[in-house]
Amino acid sequence: MPAAIRAPILGDDMDSALVLFSGGQDSTTCLAWALERFDRVETVGFDYGQRHRVELIARKSILGEIRDAFPRWGNRLGGDHVIDLHALGQLSDTALTSEVAIAMRGDGLPNTFVPGRNLIFLTFASALAYRRGAKHIVTGVCETDYSGYPDCRDDTIKAMQIALNLGMERRFILHTPLMWIGKADTWRLAEKLGGGALVKLIREATHTCYLGSEDGGHDWGKGCGTCPACELRAAGWIEYSAAERRAVNQ
Ligand code: ZN
Repeated sequence: MPAAIRAPILGDDMDSALVLFSGGQDSTTCLAWALERFDRVETVGFDYGQRHRVELIARKSILGEIRDAFPRWGNRLGGDHVIDLHALGQLSDTALTSEVAIAMRGDGLPNTFVPGRNLIFLTFASALAYRRGAKHIVTGVCETDYSGYPDCRDDTIKAMQIALNLGMERRFILHTPLMWIGKADTWRLAEKLGGGALVKLIREATHTCYLGSEDGGHDWGKGCGTCPACELRAAGWIEYSAAERRAVNQ
């Protein structure tokens, strides 16, 4: 068992949260959202053999930068946990876990869909939250600008909250701050939470690209620029930054 899980637990603290933190734009914004609200916040990531492993590496530097640049949040930021879920990678044969081209499937879902991924993430996160004494679980899933993954939908998350609470006899609250907002509003939320410094940190340090590309030179950060995740991120940035420029010129 990783040392951090054996460490003293948070205690049954109403104000403790666990954030599903992948190192991407959405989960970094959710982490800031949680740090603004809860007294104690821990993070969890999952290693399932994803092609975009660069995001797992980015996680550590993002956490370090948050501690350095936002001392108020840094004081609330507790341990980070990484759970080995390679079994999920073995079960999936998708464009996120094997070297095949990203494409749409006949049923309208992209072949980046890893069946049940978020259900498994939430189950493991809840088991960890149980051990750590955290009541609040925060995830960056979104039904507005998304790839059609059924396990990102609001109804799925609400059903999971009921199932997890029944199955673990707890009163976890699953928070989805991005559920009903688009990518441009996710940038705006970051600005509202942490100003230009947080927007800059997210732009420069987070990874969203499905291919794990570290190509730079984009206004919106690093990535291949052509995979669905990069396209969503770029479109959101263009809309956000155009509105910012209009506001400045008025
Ligand atoms: Zn990409």
